[in-house]
Amino acid sequence: MSNEEKMSRWGSEVFQSEVVRGCWERNIKAESIVIVAHRSPDGDAIGSALALHLHLLSMGLQSSVVFPDSFPAFFNWMPHSDSIVLHEDEMDRAHLLIQEASVLWCLDFNGPKRSGKMEEVIRSSPAFKIVVDHHLEPENFADVLFSDPVCGSTCELIYGLIEAWDQSDMLSLATAQCIYTGMMTDTGSFRFSSVTGNTHRILGRLLDLGVNQSWIHEQVFGSNRIAKIKLQGFALSEKLRVWPEHRTALISLTQDEMKRFDCQSGDTEGLVNQALALEGVEVAVFMKESEEGHVKMSFRSNGDYSVRDLVATHFNGGGHRNAAGGILENKSVADAISFFESLLKKWMPV
Ligand code: 5GP
Ligand code: MN
Repeated sequence: MSNEEKMSRWGSEVFQSEVVRGCWERNIKAESIVIVAHRSPDGDAIGSALALHLHLLSMGLQSSVVFPDSFPAFFNWMPHSDSIVLHEDEMDRAHLLIQEASVLWCLDFNGPKRSGKMEEVIRSSPAFKIVVDHHLEPENFADVLFSDPVCGSTCELIYGLIEAWDQSDMLSLATAQCIYTGMMTDTGSFRFSSVTGNTHRILGRLLDLGVNQSWIHEQVFGSNRIAKIKLQGFALSEKLRVWPEHRTALISLTQDEMKRFDCQSGDTEGLVNQALALEGVEVAVFMKESEEGHVKMSFRSNGDYSVRDLVATHFNGGGHRNAAGGILENKSVADAISFFESLLKKWMPV
């Protein structure tokens, strides 16, 4: 079956139909339910995975959440986050869970490549695979695809799914907190153009359930370590380059620089948005050297300019029009910057 035939958009007849009920039936009958998300899990990946896990639990169903690698410590408060199996720490256990799953929920990614070292085991698992995602151009690897690239977050789609199952009355506070977190982090705290009336309708419902939004915001954005602030200060004062004629800004960090500031998971988050917030800048890039010697990149843009097209063409990645990511393998940061600079004339706005 083609992806288009599998694809279900919210509000469409397909989504209302037996496909969505069929997924619930699969859950009930499953001997083992496993939920996976992409590598370097962000608030939406963690939020959607834990929300589904917690909701299934309140409906009397057990599931396991398996991630490729660790997530920032500022998500440690999230209910059941300590039960997440990390493939990088427990490879055998993670493999066994995915291989023996009868239902495999793949959340917040459009292809198994995004799950890093879990790619092969996800592909080869005989499980019934269900994707819930909001990235463009999903790969055709699952049995059911709930994909809405216009939607601001996978967490918003998970709420839609629970509603379509007629189970929104069963939503627990813990589930609501997880959904809120992913909606918040993937929409820049509800300011991106992906935010709709439906987003706010759901938020209203989550707040009515008792979600303490200022407390969650404080946990995620207001609990920075001094080392993180100093790293970000260094990056902004020493490592920012601007090409005003191309309305483009770039921040880069090497492994040595990150080690100097005791950089931990999540410490560089937000830097790319600071570069984008510069006056006159429409495209911002953040590059960092990974421990394996690759260069991982985050791209952001304002308005109609699509960083996804640039990243898909030259940086082995993808994402959304205004937020995308990619990687250059076995390259130094200096080489990656030179390469990026060589593309400016052709690709960047003038
Ligand atoms: P971030 O810059 O926050 O890591 O990612 C921005 C967006 O680009 C996210 O939606 C993320 O899923 C996507 N993205 C990040 N890295 C990659 C990548 O290596 N490949 C693809 N296809 N998408 C990515
Ligand atoms: Mn997302």
